[in-house]
Amino acid sequence: MEIKISDDRGEIIESGTRRNKVVGDVDVVVVGGGPSGVAAAISAARNGVKVTLVERYPYLGGMATGGLVLLLIEYDRYEYGILKETVERLVKLPNAIALPPRKRPWILGPETPTWIEGFGLSGAYMPPFDPEMLKFVCNEMVIEAGVKLMLNCTFVEPIMADNVMNGVIIENKEGRQAILAKITIDATGDGDVFARAGAPFKEDIHPTGLSLSYRVMNVNVEKAVKFREENPEKYMELINEHVEKEGYGLVWLPTTLEGCVLFFQYLRGLSATKVEDLTRAEIEGRRKVLAAVDFFRRNVPGFESAFLIDTSPQIGTRESRRLEGEYVLTKQDVLEGKRFHDVIARNPFFDIPYRCLVPKKIDNLLVAGRCISTTHEAQASVRMICPCYATGEAAGAAAALAIEENVPPRKVDIYKLQKQLIKQGVVIKDL
Ligand SMILES: Cc1cc2nc3c(=O)[nH]c(=O)nc-3n(C[C@H](O)[C@H](O)[C@H](O)COP(=O)(O)OP(=O)(O)OC[C@H]3O[C@@H](n4cnc5c(N)ncnc54)[C@H](O)[C@@H]3O)c2cc1C
Repeated sequence: MEIKISDDRGEIIESGTRRNKVVGDVDVVVVGGGPSGVAAAISAARNGVKVTLVERYPYLGGMATGGLVLLLIEYDRYEYGILKETVERLVKLPNAIALPPRKRPWILGPETPTWIEGFGLSGAYMPPFDPEMLKFVCNEMVIEAGVKLMLNCTFVEPIMADNVMNGVIIENKEGRQAILAKITIDATGDGDVFARAGAPFKEDIHPTGLSLSYRVMNVNVEKAVKFREENPEKYMELINEHVEKEGYGLVWLPTTLEGCVLFFQYLRGLSATKVEDLTRAEIEGRRKVLAAVDFFRRNVPGFESAFLIDTSPQIGTRESRRLEGEYVLTKQDVLEGKRFHDVIARNPFFDIPYRCLVPKKIDNLLVAGRCISTTHEAQASVRMICPCYATGEAAGAAAALAIEENVPPRKVDIYKLQKQLIKQGVVIKDL
């Protein structure tokens, strides 16, 4: 819905029949406090602009904390900027992160914290981290950067004048409120902001669907590993039979806690943007969690005394809406390692161009994280926590530069943006 700005701008914003109190008038509002939103807010604030970060849940970290995702996949390929700082802070906290030796393939050995099973990413470097410690580090870094943090606030509508965004309407315990902003960054993962603002987008359900992740404690990991290694066929037969019967995957991964492993599950065919599916995922997911723990206790040596300690507070979503922005990153770009003149995030294999963060049609809006402009296939390569930090950091710096230069984000001077990112420690290229 298009929202009219009333005459008494600065006090009340009218939205249909509603009148929303203006609670902020800032340079940049970042919507969503996951990896990309946290990085975007810190990056913008450190560049001297006034930033508010809005998050619907009472903690930061998004999927990385609330989705119990817990592995920094490919950290060695994005070890720079705000992400690197975050890891350096985690290293100083107890049980917050385990950095295994960097060798490829990263295989089970005495140095690895527990073990990896059934994960199709052989060779990827993926340090496990603790969600509570990451929540703490995100809070500290955001506050230190001077960001105004608003937790428990859900974005509901964009404030638009024609195709220009002027901020957001949020809902919280106090009712509906307006935050005016020169630039809005959509870091909601699901593209809630760009979808409601009317920017073109595509939507797919990831082949693995949604996931209610969970942690299981009191596992004799050594015994479980031994059983699997000595009886690989029997083990796979057992697992496959259960997977087939229950219709979901059984992947378990290392955590930073001794005797504790993390399970992902696959609730196929369910959409992250449909309330009915989200509700079904919670109910079915929970049933499957109990069934899986029971199965492991009865069948897999090492799990005899294991018990469930928690499930993810929010349903895990790998993919939902994807922006159709000024450039759409493709599978071919990723596989061929295409280099772009407007690179803003780089790993040794491919570039992410700035245009993937810029929506068509809508001005004063940038997008960061797993919902940037890519095809379904290419999204698999940019949706991990580490690249989301990188696109968030770039979006924050770009927003600050656009404000400084008084231009819309799509007109930002790429050379200046890249220079700024390099100054922030981001590895993109020699300029
Ligand atoms: C089961 C599963 C396993 C995964 N495993 C790994 C892994 O091992 N390693 C890895 O690197 N990646 C993994 N990923 C992917 C990775 O976790 C996410 O893609 C990444 O966290 C995305 O970051 P983001 O900032 O784009 O979005 P998100 O992490 O989704 O954060 C979005 C934030 O926006 C908030 N938000 C959403 N809508 C609104 C709204 N309307 N108003 C206010 N706030 C809102 C959310 O609450 C959330 O905090 C996994 C994902 C899943 C689902």
